[in-house]
Amino acid sequence: MTEVVVALDVGGTVMKCGLVSRAGELRHAERHPTNAAAGGAAVVDTILGVAAGLADTARAQGLTPVAAGLAVPGVVDEEHGVAVWAANVGFRDVPLRKLVSDRLGLPAALGHDVRAGGVAEARLGAGTGQRHVLFVAIGTGIAAAHVVDGRAFAGAHGAAGEVGHVVVRPGGPQCGCGQRGCLEAVASASALARRYTDLAGVALSAAEVAAAAAGGDPLAVRAWDEVVDALADGLTIAQTLFDPAVIVIGGGLAEAGAQLLEPLGAGLRARLTFQREPALVRAALGDAAGCLGAGLLGGDALEAA
Ligand SMILES: [Zn+2]
Repeated sequence: MTEVVVALDVGGTVMKCGLVSRAGELRHAERHPTNAAAGGAAVVDTILGVAAGLADTARAQGLTPVAAGLAVPGVVDEEHGVAVWAANVGFRDVPLRKLVSDRLGLPAALGHDVRAGGVAEARLGAGTGQRHVLFVAIGTGIAAAHVVDGRAFAGAHGAAGEVGHVVVRPGGPQCGCGQRGCLEAVASASALARRYTDLAGVALSAAEVAAAAAGGDPLAVRAWDEVVDALADGLTIAQTLFDPAVIVIGGGLAEAGAQLLEPLGAGLRARLTFQREPALVRAALGDAAGCLGAGLLGGDALEAA
C-alpha cells in the first residue's frame, strides 16, 4: 500500500489540498474555499472536515494515510504546532496541529505557508540539489524562506525570513506593518500596480503593468525599473545575510520570467562586492508548492514520531 500524507495549504481565499506520496508526488488534489469571512472557528472546522475527507479519499483509492501536514499564513509556532496569528483567516492561538492529529489519529505537522513552499522548492523544485536555498515569494506581499538541507529556519518567534519588511527606501511608502519604505511596500506585485497608477493615473494589474513595460510604455518601464531596483537592493541584503547558493523567485511577479530575472540578476551582480553571486531562478512548482511542502512536513513529523 502506498503511503500518503494528507496535505492542506490554507490561504486567505482558497485551500489547496491533496494527498502527497512520501516521495513528494501529488497523488490527488482538491481545492476548497476558505470562507474566511465566517471567522477563525469556522475555518478550523472546514480544515478538520477537509482533512478527514482526504484521509477517506486516500483509503478509497487504496492509499494509506500515514500523517497530515498543514501550511497556514501569518505567525506560526511550528515547534508547538500553534497558528499564533493570521489576520486574513482569523486565527489567534489555534492549536491546529493537535486538532488535526486528534481528528485523524495520525501524526501531524503545522508549518508557515511560505516556509512550506520554500521546503518544497528546495527538495522537489527549482532548488533541488542545493543545500542552501532562499525562496522569495513576490505577490501581494513579499516573504522568504531560508532552507538549509531541506529544512526552513523559523526563528525564535516564527518570524524569520521576513525579507519583505527590510527597509530599502527610508521614508518611503507606508507598509502594512507600520514601517515606511519596506521592500514589500515598494516592490510587491501590489506595489507595482499602485506605483503605475500614481504615475499614469490609470489603474492596471501588476501583470498588465509588466506587459505594458515589455511593450515599451515609458511609465510602465519606469515603474518596473523602480521595482527591479528595490528588489535588487533587498536581495543584496538577503545574500549578505544568508549566503544561499540559489535564490528561487516565486509568487505572481515571477510569472514575468526573464523580464524580471535578467535585470534583477544584473542589478544584484552590480551590487555584490565580496559576496558570492547566487544562481537566480524562477520557482518550478507554481501554486502547488505550499501543498507539496505541507506534505513533506507531514512526512518529517512521521519520521520524528
Ligand atoms: Zn513592512
